Amino acid sequence: MDSIRKYWKEEIIDELTHLQQILQKRSLVKADGGQSTWLHMDDRKLLNLSSNNYLGLAGDERIIKAGMVAAERYGGGAAASRLIVGNHPAYDEAESTLKQWKGTEAGLILGSGYTANVGIISALMGRNGIVFSDKFNHASIVDGILLSRAEHKRYFHRDLNHLEALLKGADPHKRKLIVTDTVFSMDGDVAPLEGLVELKDRYHAILMVDEAHSSGIFGYRGEGLTHHLGLQDKVDIQMGTFSKALGCYGAYVVGSQWLIDFLVNKMRSFIYTTGLPPFILGSICSAMQIVQTEQGRREKLFNHSEYFRTSLSRFGFRMDESETQIIPLIIGSNEQTVRFSQRLQEEGIAAVAVRPPTVPEQQARIRFTVMATHQRNELDWAIEKIVQVGREIGVIL
Ligand code: PMP
Repeated sequence: MDSIRKYWKEEIIDELTHLQQILQKRSLVKADGGQSTWLHMDDRKLLNLSSNNYLGLAGDERIIKAGMVAAERYGGGAAASRLIVGNHPAYDEAESTLKQWKGTEAGLILGSGYTANVGIISALMGRNGIVFSDKFNHASIVDGILLSRAEHKRYFHRDLNHLEALLKGADPHKRKLIVTDTVFSMDGDVAPLEGLVELKDRYHAILMVDEAHSSGIFGYRGEGLTHHLGLQDKVDIQMGTFSKALGCYGAYVVGSQWLIDFLVNKMRSFIYTTGLPPFILGSICSAMQIVQTEQGRREKLFNHSEYFRTSLSRFGFRMDESETQIIPLIIGSNEQTVRFSQRLQEEGIAAVAVRPPTVPEQQARIRFTVMATHQRNELDWAIEKIVQVGREIGVIL
């Protein structure tokens, strides 16, 4: 403790000051009820337009109950890695439901979306490989590539021509992986999956997709964008999370049996970590069953998202190519974006300011997310407030 104070304190404080200046202060604010459509922050009641609980399942009684039953049956914690003695029976049921849901030969449930991406990419790729990654892919994909030590080729966002040029110029003997988010987390637009499948075939690469924001949302049974486009037999690796539309925690990867066997033997963020606690597997299993049957939630979400987006764009807000429940208002400057978010909070709306480095410079934004459980009159109320604040701050005329 004393040596930390002696050698590092000033350096760390300097770095913190710098981070706070460029990011305009980030701190943890207590958000009570972040899963619900209304939450309490700093003792104020706010309409929640910031949650990833897109289908409203995080507070679902059936999912909570299933978690409690699994905890009572199998205990509170897994007590070891799955390769030691942590592979408790709750995994069995959840992984067979996963395979049935996604219609794949094999599937594995993992700790979190972040550790899944870091682990899968670094297990599959090494110094002699090349990863082609969309510029707007999630940070966990970027970190996985860095950890793998493979060559990192970033193609312009959703730009198939640029990707093809990079593939053409690459050493044909190297192992190649193309990786993309299916729905981009800060923009709400979707990846050109058909084109990616064509390119990966032409240049002998494998294709991995991150369905974090599309699992539960796209596809007749909520399988994801890959299924929605009928590409499930063409995409080599699908990963996704249970932490967003499915309202739980954890992640999955599905594909061929050889792929899953390989990951079990090679993936460090799977091997060297404790298994998930039984209760979360009980909840995940229940959530996967619910998303397959309750199409009404998806319909409601699509209608709400479309309504919210078109209503705001009519007033001249810039929201680029969003096609989903993630609806960004691109503002540009950090200061104006933070001011916008603060004013919305004062008006009773929780909507976070997202700034560089999470998004490119001069593209700071308010990231709104819509939930199936919002009421139309709540959205109307929010739209009115957003327009009022947008005019006041000079973002729109
Ligand atoms: N991938 C994407 C595209 C994400 O947006 C996120 C979370 N924001 C993750 C992975 C990480 O998922 P988790 O929160 O389950 O770690």
